[in-house]
Amino acid sequence: MSLSRRGRNTKQRKLIMEAVQSRCDHPSADDIFISVRKQDKKISKGTVYRNLNILAETGSICHVRVPSADRYDSRTDMHYHMFCASCGVVVDAPIPYNEKYDKLAEEISGFRIDRHRTVFEGLCSECRKKYEEQDTNKQINK
Ligand SMILES: [Zn+2]
Ligand SMILES: [Zn+2]
Repeated sequence: MSLSRRGRNTKQRKLIMEAVQSRCDHPSADDIFISVRKQDKKISKGTVYRNLNILAETGSICHVRVPSADRYDSRTDMHYHMFCASCGVVVDAPIPYNEKYDKLAEEISGFRIDRHRTVFEGLCSECRKKYEEQDTNKQINK
């Protein structure tokens, strides 16, 4: 690989890294592609996807697996997520990571547990409101 090519790769990775760090909404790979594309018109989807995976593997960012498209997180400390099944929003859960579960699972199973990942699924407060309003309207119309 020539030096100039490596220089371009580094620059692109930095751009992708900054795009993830600039947001706290757990963007998907497509969201990141759209935002880096504004700064580098030549960047390809493949480059963005590949670099996101490299950054997640090396621990610079976190990979969040949710029922829809995978998301990325600039927060790398252990924390739980909440996923809205209606609008797809992913937010950090307001409860602390519980190491007790790691110890418990390790004791019972004989596995060496490094961590656990938890995604709470349901409706965000906005969607919940919408659904509840619809339900109320239905009841009134009955
Ligand atoms: Zn929602
Ligand atoms: Zn998060």
